[in-house]
Amino acid sequence: MDVRLTRAGNRMIGLAMMMLVSAVIGTVVVAAAKSPAKPVTPEPPAAAPAAAAPTKTPLPTKYVVLTFDDGPDIEYTPKVLDILAKYDAKATFFEVGQNVQKHPELTKRIHAAGHSVENHTWNHADLRKLSATAFRQQVMSTDQAIRAQIGSTPGCLRPPYGGVSATVRQRATALGKDLVVWTVDSRDWTKPGTAAIVQRVVKNVHSGSVILMHDGGGNRSQTVAALPTILKTLKAQGYGFRTLTC
Ligand SMILES: [Zn+2]
Repeated sequence: MDVRLTRAGNRMIGLAMMMLVSAVIGTVVVAAAKSPAKPVTPEPPAAAPAAAAPTKTPLPTKYVVLTFDDGPDIEYTPKVLDILAKYDAKATFFEVGQNVQKHPELTKRIHAAGHSVENHTWNHADLRKLSATAFRQQVMSTDQAIRAQIGSTPGCLRPPYGGVSATVRQRATALGKDLVVWTVDSRDWTKPGTAAIVQRVVKNVHSGSVILMHDGGGNRSQTVAALPTILKTLKAQGYGFRTLTC
């Protein structure tokens, strides 16, 4: 159920530019750490081969990528997982390493449920402001904490605050990471009310959108309350759900 989304490295000239570009081109914006020359669009879903196992579900052609940041959180992550399960939706969780250390069982549960677990630094650091050593520590310690729970190493790195610079890109590349941002910001972290979160997602979504929400880092009760309506609406509009791998 995974898809490898690719990169738009040259566009990553700061958050404002990223979001501007994403609004203009209306496509998946994944900052490109490894191979900037690759195309921006996700790979098309593989055609189902004749000999495909009967249990293999093809990737949806009309889809969104749900992403949840800043967890895992003891209160909100289980609620998000329950709702995703109810709607049979898979998502990508960009986790903060120190939260993985606090609640390793949640990281394990996310992975076991078929979601993608990726790297969001150790303590939500702004990667633009770090020394080379500190950058490496932020990323590698989080890798290690996640790997201890899921048995594999995240390839995607979401920079906190969407903070990207040439140096951040270069350092991410050196560590084998793809920088991944988003195209639709639910702005759930501003706590605008459940209806506002739903509307912001539903009105801005299109196939290939990468939607930013949060399961940790604060009171996420509005996100939890908005999620069933978001999933119900997207499913009614024919969207499927893909996860990110890098
Ligand atoms: Zn974050």
